[in-house]
Amino acid sequence: MKTDTIVLGAGIVGTSIALHLARRGRSVVLVDRRGPGEETSFGNAGLIERASIYPVAFPRSLTALVDVALGRNPAANYHWSALPGLVPWMYAYWRASAPARILDYARTMEKLLARSIEEHDRLAGPSGATGLFREGGWLKLYRSEAGLANERNEFPLAQRYGLTAREISVDEALAMEPSLRPVFSGAVIWSDPHSSSNPGGVTKAYADHFASMGGRIVIGDARTLARVGAGWKVTTAEGEVEAAEAVVALGPWAMDVLGPLGLRLPFAVKRGYHMHYRAEGNAALSRPVLDEEGGYVITPMVGGIRLTTGVEFARRDAPKTPVQLARTETIARGLFPLGERADPEPWMGSRPAFPDMLPVIGPAPGQKGLWLAIGHQHLGFTLGPVTGRLLAEMMTGEAPCTDPEPFAATRF
Ligand SMILES: Cc1cc2nc3c(=O)[nH]c(=O)nc-3n(C[C@H](O)[C@H](O)[C@H](O)COP(=O)(O)OP(=O)(O)OC[C@H]3O[C@@H](n4cnc5c(N)ncnc54)[C@H](O)[C@@H]3O)c2cc1C
Repeated sequence: MKTDTIVLGAGIVGTSIALHLARRGRSVVLVDRRGPGEETSFGNAGLIERASIYPVAFPRSLTALVDVALGRNPAANYHWSALPGLVPWMYAYWRASAPARILDYARTMEKLLARSIEEHDRLAGPSGATGLFREGGWLKLYRSEAGLANERNEFPLAQRYGLTAREISVDEALAMEPSLRPVFSGAVIWSDPHSSSNPGGVTKAYADHFASMGGRIVIGDARTLARVGAGWKVTTAEGEVEAAEAVVALGPWAMDVLGPLGLRLPFAVKRGYHMHYRAEGNAALSRPVLDEEGGYVITPMVGGIRLTTGVEFARRDAPKTPVQLARTETIARGLFPLGERADPEPWMGSRPAFPDMLPVIGPAPGQKGLWLAIGHQHLGFTLGPVTGRLLAEMMTGEAPCTDPEPFAATRF
């Protein structure tokens, strides 16, 4: 089979790229070893994090570091065995988390975040997926004055970028979400973010729309990617596919393909877990709620109330250790009347991440015809569609919607 472009990986990022290329008249084969949107793009908290100009940074205070080291912070966990291999990456992450660099991060990411909702809308409408999204923002709860004070520190920059964060009373928070129990002392409503009741379903809807436009979705192993002449080929269940150009959008698995091609990039994963719960009685939630000091998010989803955990530093393929889920479940039961677990076992996924917290979007250095869209860390569901647009514009020679330079792989 010959096509213009092979896109490897049918998560939200690869699917959005395939759709944007198809819209620009390219013939595209989207390759995945399973169905679209069944990995990380399925298991996230469903937030379109329009307002997340502050990244999930490496702790800079000694107290915060000691809390993580001693396992006192339910938002973080680590495997001792993974740490030696992560030292250079962690050091770079720590450096990128310095206050001055956070401001650079915000300036850069805002260019993508500002388009995140609009670009989802532009794909969701024709994909018939609008009903999978909701407005209503994101409610953050604080159990201590120090936690709330930290959050307040984010307001001035947020305001500068036109974002709306409003501190509200416990009563006001309870009026918004009547099923919550008043175990918190402060709350902030960020009203710009949207969220989804079914992030995997969103990706599938975009993939169906891509197929309805003539795009091909085939099962195949991206690790078979190889050069053929001036282009690329990959082996799939439907035979070999050849194209002048290929895109790697393999989320946490990107280096499985890029490593053997000789690309050296500082790539790591931040693992996370989720579990669905039935709500007790008539209890309900209308938007995602972050319990900041509790270290988890609860989001109403089609499968029940989904509790997602913070970060676990471990090897991507090491066995699951859902200790954070066990801890946060107990804390969350105090906040919201969670009923029985609705999944047979905890889901685990990996946020693909570079230490400077920015994704790589653009050409693969030294590999003609190969493009990268990887490392979207905590924001991949948010940024999939805008990344799809930006990369498709770069690949087709259109004026890019934003300067792609900060996202170039050559920055490493
Ligand atoms: C617990 C948790 C909560 C999160 N919450 C949010 C949130 O609220 N908002 C947000 O914006 N982001 C969130 N994220 C991050 C977000 O989910 C990811 O950044 C995003 O899904 C990455 O998308 P992707 O398309 O790059 O990767 P993926 O969705 O993982 O897609 C990669 C695809 O590659 C395929 N693949 C892998 N290896 C091969 C191979 N050898 N051959 C063929 N195919 C292969 C996989 O099957 C998969 O379909 C969260 C992540 C986690 C873990």
